[in-house]
Amino acid sequence: MSKVIVFGSLNMDLSVGCPRVPGAGETIIGHGFLASPGGKGANQAVASARMGVVTHMVGAVGKDVFGTRVVQSLVEAGVLCERVRALKNVPTGTATILRAEGDNRIVVDPGANAATPADVVCSAIDDIAKPGDIFLAQLECDLDTTVDAIAYARESGLYTILNAAPVAMLPSDVYQAIDLLCVNETECKALTDISPDTERGCMRALMAFSARGVATTVITLGAKGSVARIADDVYRMGSFELNAADTTAAGDTYLGVLAAQLSQGLDIVDAMRWASAAGALATTREGAQRSIPSLAEVQKLL
Ligand code: ADP
Repeated sequence: MSKVIVFGSLNMDLSVGCPRVPGAGETIIGHGFLASPGGKGANQAVASARMGVVTHMVGAVGKDVFGTRVVQSLVEAGVLCERVRALKNVPTGTATILRAEGDNRIVVDPGANAATPADVVCSAIDDIAKPGDIFLAQLECDLDTTVDAIAYARESGLYTILNAAPVAMLPSDVYQAIDLLCVNETECKALTDISPDTERGCMRALMAFSARGVATTVITLGAKGSVARIADDVYRMGSFELNAADTTAAGDTYLGVLAAQLSQGLDIVDAMRWASAAGALATTREGAQRSIPSLAEVQKLL
């Protein structure tokens, strides 16, 4: 059995309800303040660890109370955090969320996530990883560091997964170092200029990623499920129909569970089934990390 090594962001999400969006220079009274651990990297690590798989988090926080809290949340979920560095003179990443008029307005300060030195990732790979382990990254940390880390992980014999979220323009040579690329509909459109909203669109987008050198591409399609191109074959996975209350972290849950099941030797289509069940369960509860299901819940749904 191999393990999962997640390189990515750790954030504290600070969310407050407002009766309306305040104007410039104005102070208003809000309600329902919530501080909850998040960040795509951290959420995906939690999803992997909840499947009972050995999961390491690699990344950085600031030397502050938010840093302590977000690491504590990962440790409580069973994620190994020895490779999360606490950096001086930089704050823990935050997402400040104003909930007003039925919409969210979000400001992200990447803080320590953008300052993670590349050697933190490379030395973690040298010290912890074995060939065949899964390396899972997203795009909330510094782009150059992430691209270098993927190349280093691949050279070290790891199976590399990139979740290209939030979307960024990637250097063309990174695609060949990615064993499995996962994008949602918006990211797919931004990277290929093709909307995967029809059967033909999906096929064309999957072909476009293959042409860039990606071995396997998975496109997640929200309530419509997901679709993958593995070598020359295309597979569709329907979604599990549950009562969705809040889709936050559905994608992160899907990625973490996909990586976890691949590390246990499942083939990609079986791993997609587990990921779809877990993603659907995450939509039935509010919030990010606390909405991610346990192994027992996913087993029951499957
Ligand atoms: P993201 O959150 O990155 O936009 P998606 O919305 O595509 O990602 O969701 C990822 C996966 O989670 C989907 O492929 C699907 O399997 C599952 N999922 C998402 N939304 C729903 C839903 N409303 N009902 C059932 N499953 C869902």
